[in-house]
Amino acid sequence: MIIDCHGHYTTAPEPHQLFREAQLEAYRSGKPLPEVPHISDDQIRESVEQNQLRLLRERDADMTVFSPRASAMAHHLGDRTVSEQWTMACNNLIKRVVDLYPDYFIGVCQLPQSPGVSIEHSIAELERTVNELGFVGCNLNPDPSGGHWTSDPLTDRSWYPFFEKMVELDVPAMIHVSGSCNHNFHATGAHYINADTTAFMQFLEGNLFKDFPDLRFIIPHGGGAVPYHWGRYRGLADMLKQPPLAEHVMKNVFFDTCVYHQPGIDLLFKVIDIDNILFGSEMVGAVRGIDPETGQYFDDTKRYVDALNLSTEDHYKVYEGNARRIYPRLNKALEARGK
Ligand SMILES: [Zn+2]
Repeated sequence: MIIDCHGHYTTAPEPHQLFREAQLEAYRSGKPLPEVPHISDDQIRESVEQNQLRLLRERDADMTVFSPRASAMAHHLGDRTVSEQWTMACNNLIKRVVDLYPDYFIGVCQLPQSPGVSIEHSIAELERTVNELGFVGCNLNPDPSGGHWTSDPLTDRSWYPFFEKMVELDVPAMIHVSGSCNHNFHATGAHYINADTTAFMQFLEGNLFKDFPDLRFIIPHGGGAVPYHWGRYRGLADMLKQPPLAEHVMKNVFFDTCVYHQPGIDLLFKVIDIDNILFGSEMVGAVRGIDPETGQYFDDTKRYVDALNLSTEDHYKVYEGNARRIYPRLNKALEARGK
């Protein structure tokens, strides 16, 4: 099987986005929040079949681990109540897609984070989506302020109650920021990659995995700047008197293959252990165009991975085995269907 661990519902039907705009407008003007609109099965089918589903088939992949549009999570907008209503609407829509196309999609949730609000308030939505909707993981935003980094590092104890719940439910989190409201940081070009790199350095500096040996994170976009600067991070671990990265961080942290050119993928696989790499493309997402140098979509990452001519064993790990191991609930769902 070919499992893409990183896909977002960036093409959700228009009423969903219009609802969000109305919701934020109501919040700004102090009016009651609007009702979540009804979206028909046909609208959902239309939004997926010409986009994610078409590309999955064209690229010979089998399924996508699917979550709400990351840039639209916008935890920095509104307040806790606004974030909760928006998050539930987004997650429920993912569940609708999964129910229509159970062979192609499995859900990962957004969390109702909000700046200055304890992560404990996100536990209920994680439980609801995992236990009731059958989701297999979550997207955790290390910076709900949208580019101002007002919360504590991920290794701070304030995050611990949420991590305890992740371990109890046996689900991983993808570290994923959302839109940027700091005009120094372009959302997908700077804020995303900064956050990936920042999260890794936080794990390196802290001792989180001593307290949570079973906690698992996927750092997307190929691990941000980390693989390219692997020597720097190994050297920093040494200077900071931390154990080698293989023991200290890499039993718990995994990178996806959302790197949009061949030399980047080559470097990722050269530097990072095969057991720590999951196939991902983030389609339809941050970079949607066609590379004029190759004539192929930038985010068609399967082409770059295939060009590595991996051994059968490594091919299995990157495309399927690692995902089954890191998302045990995905594995169970597949096994239940005889896959
Ligand atoms: Zn993403």
